[in-house]
Amino acid sequence: MTDTAALRATIRDIADFPSPGITFRDVTPLLGDAAALQSALSGLADLARPLSPTKIVGIESRGFLFGVPVADRLKIGFAPMRKPGKLPHTVHREQYALEYGTDTLELHTDAFTADDRVLVIDDVLATGGTAEAALKLVARTGATVVGALFLLELAALGGRARLGTHPVSALLTYP
Ligand code: AMP
Repeated sequence: MTDTAALRATIRDIADFPSPGITFRDVTPLLGDAAALQSALSGLADLARPLSPTKIVGIESRGFLFGVPVADRLKIGFAPMRKPGKLPHTVHREQYALEYGTDTLELHTDAFTADDRVLVIDDVLATGGTAEAALKLVARTGATVVGALFLLELAALGGRARLGTHPVSALLTYP
């Protein structure tokens, strides 16, 4: 069982970052604490395993920090989902709305086969716009989405509602 209180204590709140009114949940102290890192990765792997994924996709960039070690624990492969212009091969591209403006994610067209069961991993579920775009991108490859997994969910922002019927799990839930 994950000691969620101990884990939560390693996540630092930064007020008004990156803009006024935003409380940024900084995971760098968690990453720097060996026991907390092990606990977070074990907890995420325990949530991932019952979904029986065959591949994990991590969202740039903090999704990479948690996605690759979880893939390693499950002994499955990993694909990066990146900001525009970073992936060198043919890509699927999905644009999504931010509070001001838009952002874009890309995924290699050959990241998955139609037989793959893909789990999306990121650090934080906030409004859900990023994860929603990620799920659409995975679907474009013909693979099956088995769910979305986060280190922490900011429940008040209602992101989960944007992810349809896909299973959504988070190790920590913030009100
Ligand atoms: P959203 O699309 O609103 O769900 O935002 C999710 C993305 O933005 C994730 O990749 C997070 O890393 C990042 N993010 C959003 N809000 C926060 C926050 N309060 N603290 C840390 N990261 C955040």
